[in-house]
Amino acid sequence: MPELPEVEAAARRLRRALVGRTIVAIAARHATPRRHLPPRIRAAVAGRQVRAIDRRGKHQLLRLDDGATLHVHFRMTGDWVVGRAAQPLPRHARVVLTLDGGDWVALDDPRVLATVAYHAPGDEPALGLGPEPFDRALTPAAWHARLRARRAPIKAVLLDQSVLAGLGNIYAAEALWAAGLRPTLRADRLTRAQATALLAAIRGVLRAAPQGRYWRRADGAPWRVYDRAGAPCPRCGRPIRRRVHAGRSTYWCPGCQR
Ligand SMILES: [Zn+2]
Repeated sequence: MPELPEVEAAARRLRRALVGRTIVAIAARHATPRRHLPPRIRAAVAGRQVRAIDRRGKHQLLRLDDGATLHVHFRMTGDWVVGRAAQPLPRHARVVLTLDGGDWVALDDPRVLATVAYHAPGDEPALGLGPEPFDRALTPAAWHARLRARRAPIKAVLLDQSVLAGLGNIYAAEALWAAGLRPTLRADRLTRAQATALLAAIRGVLRAAPQGRYWRRADGAPWRVYDRAGAPCPRCGRPIRRRVHAGRSTYWCPGCQR
């Protein structure tokens, strides 16, 4: 599942392909996206120039020249594929933006869970997000205060996008390992020193992220605990544990995450 670094990388590719170009047509090639992009909305998007691509957390906001916004969330398997006029579309192209000159940008999404929603001029999407991890206003004191207001396990709190924008299952597990914190610790019980270490760990794992397309991990993504159940902890050698809670796997080291 794409998290902040992967969405940021995708948004950068999208900026290069789209900003300053005119969307000649937008097509929905599956019943699910078609529901959100009925003919009147496709007609409203056609002919608009793309002014900017903003990213907030795992959300992408395509800003059109009339003030409208296309709000995109990749969910599980969404990603952008950019192609030239003569090139065939990817097999799982669900939404296709055709540009002036025939080039195209396709939302490639095998699972069809990604969403594209149109917001008319003046209707800013309400995302309900907490701060970005690299926001300068997110000081250790501000971060500690956010955690102290939450009684849930720290792992669940890190996944709550209203507390912090952009983390998912992978980087939450990696950050907790880097900070030496057990995922089941209650967020409001973290000391100031633990909260400070966790914020530094979150920023560290996001900076070190491979920034690639997330389901093609031929780059040998350097996970320490994520997806490594039974493998030795790189810090203390104890086998990594895995537990499934609410459909999500949690990975941690019983030796050095206290
Ligand atoms: Zn360990």
